[in-house]
Amino acid sequence: MKTDIKSLLPEEISQVLSQMSQPKYRAKQIFSWLHRGVSNFEEMTDLPKSLREGLDERFFISCPKAIRKQVSERDGTIKYLWRLADGNCIETVVMSYKHGNTVCISSQVGCRQGCAFCASAIGGLVRDLSPSEMLDEVLFSQLDSGMKITNIVLMGIGEPLDNFDNVIRFLELVNHPHGLNIGMRHISLSTCGLTEKFDKLAELNLQLTLSISLHAPDDETRSRLMPANRGRGVDELVSACRSYFERTGRRISFEYAMISGVNDSPEQARLLAERAKDAFAHVNLIPLNKVEERSFLPSSPNDLKQFVKILEDKGVNVTVRRSLGGDVNASCGQLRRTAAKEG
Ligand code: SAH
Repeated sequence: MKTDIKSLLPEEISQVLSQMSQPKYRAKQIFSWLHRGVSNFEEMTDLPKSLREGLDERFFISCPKAIRKQVSERDGTIKYLWRLADGNCIETVVMSYKHGNTVCISSQVGCRQGCAFCASAIGGLVRDLSPSEMLDEVLFSQLDSGMKITNIVLMGIGEPLDNFDNVIRFLELVNHPHGLNIGMRHISLSTCGLTEKFDKLAELNLQLTLSISLHAPDDETRSRLMPANRGRGVDELVSACRSYFERTGRRISFEYAMISGVNDSPEQARLLAERAKDAFAHVNLIPLNKVEERSFLPSSPNDLKQFVKILEDKGVNVTVRRSLGGDVNASCGQLRRTAAKEG
């Protein structure tokens, strides 16, 4: 069995090199080649041939294949469907903003969280993505599109905290000065609220932005929409957010998809305002995206306006997210595991 070399940090590559009686400084060269997207060791032209062959015996280099690329006619958003080495497929979205280009990556093949409004949950979890597979989403989106990626959001398919160790390793890789060197402050991690993982995350004291998919301020509605709320509850979530903020100094963001007649009442706006203040959180309202298999509808513009006003009057920091890539089904919650047969 060969080892996945792109999931390793330079110091780990260097350990292998010393076992191979090779100079350690080669590790930095190898790491840089990998993070430039080479697909085999032959391309590492400044390494001696014997070393390239030695590496090839021990390691493989992950390299997803783009089997579909859709470009939005409205806003240029690109959606990629990649086929991984084992035949599973994942999706990645690249969005262009005034301040730079953001890539929205998947962290798992499928998702086990089962949120009622989300297309990604359909079909359940297949498997976790490796650190290199997440890195490849960024790397190959950038190489193929020619758009320099400046920001990353872990808001594609999957629950990042359910794949904790691989996600953390991915962050170390993508943040590395000899790799893509994307700053933690340019990275957002979104979770349905696996509160038992918050302390572990806070301990690492990464400067990333933690986003919470809240979607309802009361347990009855939230447990109905999001099975992850059952057994945890909104009180526990809010206090975990508060302590995360106190420990890291990083303000949390609450994501809230506005669903007509479900979570958009004035009472819910008032309760959400309390929750946001308790957690020192910013609120990001998302117009619900229509998912074919789901019956939920987006809130009316009027209800949305009224909801925003209540939050603002209560002094909550609130924004409404612009929806990109709607015409290629690349908007929040619309990504889903696409069967390998599509390729
Ligand atoms: N599992 C993580 C990461 C997924 S992020 C999480 O739950 O945060 C995807 C974001 O899109 C989440 O905030 C999710 O709640 C939201 N979302 C899912 N379905 C949606 C839909 N139909 N319309 C708008 N947002 C949706």
